[in-house]
Amino acid sequence: MPAVIEVSCINCDMCVPECPNEAISMGPLHYQVNPQLCTECIGYYDKPTCIEVCPIDCVALVTG
Ligand code: SF4
Ligand code: SF4
Repeated sequence: MPAVIEVSCINCDMCVPECPNEAISMGPLHYQVNPQLCTECIGYYDKPTCIEVCPIDCVALVTG
C-alpha cells in the first residue's frame, strides 16, 4: 500500500528529502512516489512521513 501523490502537488520539495527510501522524485508534472521503493516508512517513522510533512495534504496511501 504505497503512498501516492495527487495531481494537486505544488512541487514544494518538502517531502523529497524526508523519504527514507528515496522513493519520491519529480515526474512529468509533479512529484511522484515509486511504489517499488515506498515501504510506508515502516521501521523509520510511526506514520508515512511524506504525508506528515506535506503542507497541502496531497499525499495518501493507496487503498483497495
Ligand atoms: S510513505 Fe515513506 S517510504 Fe513511502 S514515499 Fe512516503 S516518505 Fe517515502
Ligand atoms: S510535500 Fe506535498 S506538495 Fe510538496 S512536493 Fe511533496 S507531495 Fe508535493
